[in-house]
Amino acid sequence: MTTSEGMTMTDDQTTGTWRERYRRDLLGVFGSPQLCLERGHGCVVVDSDGKEYLDLLGGIAVNALGYAHPAWVEAVSHQAATLAHVSNFFTTGPQLDLAEKLLALAKAPQGSAVFLSNSGAEANEAAVKICLARDPGGRIIALEHAFHGRTLGALSVTHKIAYRQPFGPSAVDVTFVPAEDPDSLAAELDKGDVAGVFVEPVQGEAGVVPLSVAYLQRVRELTASHDVLMVVDEVQCGMGRTGHWFAHHGAHITPDIMTLAKALGGGFPIGATMTFGPDVSGILSAGQHGTTFGGNPLACAAAYSVINTIESEDLLAHVRQIGTLLSSTLRQCHPRITEVRGSGALLGVQFDSEIAADLVVAARDAGFIVNAANPSTLRLAPPYILTTEQAQSFVDALPGLIDAVTV
Ligand SMILES: *Cc1c(COP(=O)(O)O)cnc(C)c1O
Repeated sequence: MTTSEGMTMTDDQTTGTWRERYRRDLLGVFGSPQLCLERGHGCVVVDSDGKEYLDLLGGIAVNALGYAHPAWVEAVSHQAATLAHVSNFFTTGPQLDLAEKLLALAKAPQGSAVFLSNSGAEANEAAVKICLARDPGGRIIALEHAFHGRTLGALSVTHKIAYRQPFGPSAVDVTFVPAEDPDSLAAELDKGDVAGVFVEPVQGEAGVVPLSVAYLQRVRELTASHDVLMVVDEVQCGMGRTGHWFAHHGAHITPDIMTLAKALGGGFPIGATMTFGPDVSGILSAGQHGTTFGGNPLACAAAYSVINTIESEDLLAHVRQIGTLLSSTLRQCHPRITEVRGSGALLGVQFDSEIAADLVVAARDAGFIVNAANPSTLRLAPPYILTTEQAQSFVDALPGLIDAVTV
């Protein structure tokens, strides 16, 4: 391998601080990492200096069971020692078990089906292809401030212009409409040529903005009456995150497609695209889509253990309890907090000014990992096993952190 100086890479070039090594060896798309993390247990991660942090972000809504949960470690270790990957020429017990479990949790009607992949973007990519296979050349409607991923198809339905440029023109013909405005959706649907409508029941990257029950129900009615597929992206808000298995269940609707990832594998990469009912499940035929790694028994065993543990430890009830505690106490803990949105283990703390980035740094120095979903919103997406004491410790610390960044 040759460096930019034309020198051959040798062992002495693997030395340097982790910052130097990262800057030299990793593509710069994530900017500079905040910490070099070494290990984790429960809701706590430890960095390379041995400093501990209470993780209220959970790998961006991924580590539902925290770090190194014994059930997850046992499931992954056992499956790794048994059968890790086989290709999709074959199926395996863990794959069949996971698909069956997901269909049951989703209350999917007869004839529903699951496609397993490796990420949220891939899950949405498959959803876009299903819409277009049903309605070739059709448009997709997505919501303003939507985030659906970074691959070209998923990127097309992502709203933020900074993410989409300079990669256009979009791979898919997409029209964005404002959320909570059924009239603009209806007007677009009336124009025709629409293959699918994508919504996140809770818009996570937008700053944790839940869509109202009334709006979700209206989207379902309008898509059904226009014979257009409704896709719910529950990559971030699904798998128990809101204290319910799936956020759209609160609206008592059945979408045509649901996409999952993040918490599904509890830290093992996996995504899922679920098609509801035989008509939608029959759109793609053999050979029209695929993946090498997707649905491998290792990932499926990891995901199954996450679901199993959420059930056996009654974590949905715990998530609802933690969410209620956090949102009610955070709302009152400082006058600069104007609103707390979301529920369960997905909350957006809204401030009256753009202090979120400074707060992330101050919180980290104080031993808490949180994230700025936008300049004035902190996002919390903690592991479902967060204790009430751990939640309270953040609530107790936050007023002082806010004061420190606003003087
Ligand atoms: C994170 C996210 C994605 C993309 O998932 P990746 O695994 O990063 O590809 C898609 N949709 C939503 C709602 C997300 O939060």
